[in-house]
Amino acid sequence: MKEVMDEKYDVIVVGTGVGGLTVASLVAMEGLKTLLVEQCDRVGGRALSIRGEEILCNGANWYKTLLAKQYTWLPYSEPDLESIIAGRMLQGYTLDVGYHGVALNGDGYFLDLDERLGTGVPMVGNVNSTYIGDEWYLDFHAGKVDERLQKLLQEEKIPMHRFYIAAAKLTEKDYDALETVSVTQWCKDNGLYENKTVFGMIHAVSTLITTINDPDDISIGDIFRYMGTVINPRFKAGRAKWPSGFATGGIMRWSQAVANRFRELGGKLLLDTRVREILIENGRATGIAIEDASGATRKILSDRVVSNIPIQDAFKVADKGAFPREWADRMEGLYGYGSIAPYFGLNKLVLPEREWKVGVKDTYVILKEEGFEYDVYMCWNIQSQSDPSCAPGGRHLMTAYAPVTEKEARDKALMVKACRLIMDYLEKRYPGFRSSVDWAMFPTAWKLEGVAKSKTQAGTLKAPVEAPGVAGLYFAGDTVKGYGVAMDCAVAAGLICASRITGKDYGVS
Ligand SMILES: Cc1cc2nc3c(=O)[nH]c(=O)nc-3n(C[C@H](O)[C@H](O)[C@H](O)COP(=O)(O)OP(=O)(O)OC[C@H]3O[C@@H](n4cnc5c(N)ncnc54)[C@H](O)[C@@H]3O)c2cc1C
Repeated sequence: MKEVMDEKYDVIVVGTGVGGLTVASLVAMEGLKTLLVEQCDRVGGRALSIRGEEILCNGANWYKTLLAKQYTWLPYSEPDLESIIAGRMLQGYTLDVGYHGVALNGDGYFLDLDERLGTGVPMVGNVNSTYIGDEWYLDFHAGKVDERLQKLLQEEKIPMHRFYIAAAKLTEKDYDALETVSVTQWCKDNGLYENKTVFGMIHAVSTLITTINDPDDISIGDIFRYMGTVINPRFKAGRAKWPSGFATGGIMRWSQAVANRFRELGGKLLLDTRVREILIENGRATGIAIEDASGATRKILSDRVVSNIPIQDAFKVADKGAFPREWADRMEGLYGYGSIAPYFGLNKLVLPEREWKVGVKDTYVILKEEGFEYDVYMCWNIQSQSDPSCAPGGRHLMTAYAPVTEKEARDKALMVKACRLIMDYLEKRYPGFRSSVDWAMFPTAWKLEGVAKSKTQAGTLKAPVEAPGVAGLYFAGDTVKGYGVAMDCAVAAGLICASRITGKDYGVS
């Protein structure tokens, strides 16, 4: 194996996930000579979009290999994947792997980045709703509460508004302290636990934000920090209009737009290139070793290296012995939260029309008695009603996500059972659903959130952006200190990381 030395960069970023793209583009903007290296054939990391034609053309193995690089596999589909491909059923669909709704319809940390880069990818927003049993309620939005819920709150004198306004009075110190308090505990302390509907609504919103089923485990501090510093001020100032939304043309449009801007700013992007090692000498990052297509190992030098690889896997490429032992052990042990992320190609819509353009969720889609740690929640949208470009004419794309633990996500028998139970649930909820399905695929990720926002590891309890023990090594992505919903959190961590490198204030610390 020959070894070649390459030129030197000011900054090297390993990985083109949302966090890596954020850092790379911001540092390139400051005129730093920046290299961005990605193992896959496309940018975006776990925020992965695949066009149906690509799967039809490249086949099942190609699809499964691409998924595997992003912690995702396909335990189940209807019909089987080979038949879906042989029947060319995916023609005309754009499939975001998983659900990939964007928090605040891109008006959270995405906006902070887009305003700096001038990328502005069109997004389409939606409101959300929740089933409590068979009752369907619109979620609180822009100061409005569902009328039936409002009546209940008045009659029973339940102070549900506390959940939405509590964050307004909190300081950074309060957020830090509340990081270790669960949603259940906070609701009990504030008179919001006893009523099943009220707690059910809060539980559903909390799971939507954190992707954790069990409200005893969800950190209320993480939710309040995002509400207090991003959601509430932006709605108040008219900068945000929707609680969530989708990037038109698939989430890859956003990643590609940022990558294109990075190149315009003079950055260099290497795709299909795996970083074998982050080089560390005498407590300093000195560059990377990559393996190129010819099999040659190339060393590329830089005093500053950013790893966008989820922190638990960072030590696969960076010598664990270079870091404080206890810290590195803790980082490796941080747990993520997985998700079944089904998509359905539908030939007609059997859902009530009120739900066609609305996010819908239910915290009891699969009961824990079926073998789960906690009852399984699910959230779903008819994505093609918001963005018709993601399905062919006359067809509809429904996307969803149902959080499961990392362990559950890797259990084949349990996941096959879960996928079938999801079909049963949807048929029961929407009679005729089964006959409306042309095809259904259930990609399942064991790391939707790289580090679960639980009361033991949320926010400031995650990895710092500067590596302890190794000067010049940084981390970025959703496993690193940052706040808010998954992709938005990866941007936040990227903004924090970039500010340590450039010395500029990007509004989040
Ligand atoms: C199924 C699913 C559904 C989801 N749904 C949503 C949603 O609805 N809303 C939302 O906000 N978020 C959602 N997420 C989460 C979201 O995708 C992640 O939070 C976010 O994309 C994480 O970005 P990141 O920057 O942390 O890193 P990652 O996306 O993990 O990026 C890391 C990058 O590093 C690359 N890499 C790794 N090792 C190497 C190496 N050795 N050499 C070179 N490159 C390497 C990887 O290929 C990857 O591109 C979902 C995730 C999944 C899997």
